[in-house]
Amino acid sequence: MNPRTTPKTLDPADWGPVRKLTHRAVDDMLAYVANAREKAAWQPIPEATREHFRQPVPRRRQSEESVYREFIEYVLPYPLGNLHPRFWGWVSGSGSAHGMLADFLASSMNSSLNGFQQAPELVEQQVLDWIKELMGFPKTASAVMVSSGSLANFVGLAAARNAKASGDVNVAGLAGEPSPMTHYCSVETHSSMKKGLQLLGVGTKFLRLIPVDQDYQIDLHALRHAIEKDARAGLRPAVLIGTAGTTDQGAFDDLDSLADIASEHGMWLHVDGAFGATVMISDRLRVMAKGLERADSLALDFHKWFYIPYGVACTLVRDEAAHRNPFTVKAGYLSKLKRGVSATEFRFADYSPELSREFMALKVWMCFKTFGLEKLSKLIEQNVDQAAYLAKLIRVTPELELITPVRLNVVCFRFIASGLDEEALNDLNACIVMALQEQRIAVPSHTMNKNRLVIRVAICNHRSVDNDFDVLVQETVRLGEELSLTEEIGNAESG
Ligand SMILES: *Cc1c(COP(=O)(O)O)cnc(C)c1O
Repeated sequence: MNPRTTPKTLDPADWGPVRKLTHRAVDDMLAYVANAREKAAWQPIPEATREHFRQPVPRRRQSEESVYREFIEYVLPYPLGNLHPRFWGWVSGSGSAHGMLADFLASSMNSSLNGFQQAPELVEQQVLDWIKELMGFPKTASAVMVSSGSLANFVGLAAARNAKASGDVNVAGLAGEPSPMTHYCSVETHSSMKKGLQLLGVGTKFLRLIPVDQDYQIDLHALRHAIEKDARAGLRPAVLIGTAGTTDQGAFDDLDSLADIASEHGMWLHVDGAFGATVMISDRLRVMAKGLERADSLALDFHKWFYIPYGVACTLVRDEAAHRNPFTVKAGYLSKLKRGVSATEFRFADYSPELSREFMALKVWMCFKTFGLEKLSKLIEQNVDQAAYLAKLIRVTPELELITPVRLNVVCFRFIASGLDEEALNDLNACIVMALQEQRIAVPSHTMNKNRLVIRVAICNHRSVDNDFDVLVQETVRLGEELSLTEEIGNAESG
């Protein structure tokens, strides 16, 4: 067929080939996930593969078969690796087959959840109602789904900014404010908060980074002092940011005390519960997040410790009007009618920066129903137990040092060797992390703790078993011993 004369629609004249390919892809991908353990978690991308992605714009058609073959050959072998049982880098979710299925179904419907009469919006409303209940928020609270924890934090901070401003920020901007609004969080707070305040025009100059105590919780004494100092200087202490599960330590701020301080000073309390808020589903672990239910806004990720495929997160806001305030705009093409598709009272688009967006709620809805919250809570408890198991292994291994006590699912440790100064130890541990990844053993990440480069394991992985941590410890010791003998130690960090 001459491709110039065929394209009247993207639907194929003959559905046979795409059906056959789709069935094959389903089998291939299920096998891929089922065999995640057998493959390398991660491997470096060869130059020939990089070269493949420097092709010109495809102006002519190519068969679906050959495009699929390219995917299999050039994309699939070089993943981030977070399906693998020994992937524990950053805070990465491990996904699931049922989540894949839901993504396929959602993509097939190709719904856009702007605020229309369609069942996908009921699904999202239901999931958000479940989350309100699980997080201890009232039914009257407002909620919205977004694609990431960073954006979920942004939504909370935007609601806080407008609620605490003395004028109408939507119209006058912050230039209309009589004095700057100050924000407070601990030094351990996630970087997305800084990004959010940059975008919101608040300015990081008005974000106070409060030190943490020995438990990595925000130092309440220092916090009170900073708030009082700002108030005396004529600034307006406006927003308090607490964390339920810090990225580096899995530490929980004392949220109950933060809620007290916020109400004492008429401040907004935003809680970042990106992965830590998940403990609310566990009878055993919930106590760690005590006070979370008192937040004015809460951000959490589904794609981390709820094991849902990327990217889905949500923000809960206690006061619905405050949530809506920064995001509501009017337009003729968005106004509602009495009946039909746009006969809707409620519009998700009034609660986040997004308008058109994917049907991300379906994977949460299907996974919650298929697994049940009981099973999910057992899995996060299992990850917490595995972190404790790894900590125990480290404590009895003389070559390894546990850097901080393990509170949740995060373990920070390093290899130690006599005769090496701190700088050399940092280089050595960076080399160990790189070798663990490059030798296809495991993917921990690294972080800095008091100028020490440490190996960091964050377990949001439902495929890990105890033996995976035995392997990590054995291989870390082997690599540490091997690498400390080489000249390579030095220049490990790229800056
Ligand atoms: C991961 C993380 C975020 C950001 O979430 P994304 O989904 O990666 O944007 C925010 N806060 C904490 C504590 C996190 O661990």
